[in-house]
Amino acid sequence: MAYLEFCSNCGNKNDRGWIEGNIRFHCNYCNIIHYENPKPTATLICPIKNSILLVKRAFDPGKGLWGLPGGFIELNESPQDAAKRELFEETGLKGEFKRFIHFTYHFGTIFGDILLLGLEMKIKNEPLRPGDDASDAQFFELNNLPYIAFESHIKIINKYKELTT
Ligand SMILES: [Zn+2]
Repeated sequence: MAYLEFCSNCGNKNDRGWIEGNIRFHCNYCNIIHYENPKPTATLICPIKNSILLVKRAFDPGKGLWGLPGGFIELNESPQDAAKRELFEETGLKGEFKRFIHFTYHFGTIFGDILLLGLEMKIKNEPLRPGDDASDAQFFELNNLPYIAFESHIKIINKYKELTT
């Protein structure tokens, strides 16, 4: 069953078409539009001196490639709390939110549209313990990064470089 194929209010089949300036799911029985929104992520810059932390992705999209640590913000969770949770789950590190770096977005991924909040975390140089969605975690010199899985992550890294140089 496709997401929003049926009305969550009455259970009848939704229509999908152009309405109020966008393509939307719409229930003709309840006469309501089922609005959809991008999913926000906390995407993390974790610097130690001139290096940043990257994780090797254990799952698609980008399986086997390096990217910034992070993940989707959950309900009842601030971006800062999501950042701490994802950092710990993926690398075993505890960190504190330092500052907002940059936002980027990405349409039509396997998760739908995504809004990425690039957040800088203050961390200590402690042993890494890759886990959860990460098969490896390492620090890389900012001027010698490996291939990065996502253009949106590269934009956040570039903004961070701008702010620090
Ligand atoms: Zn309905």
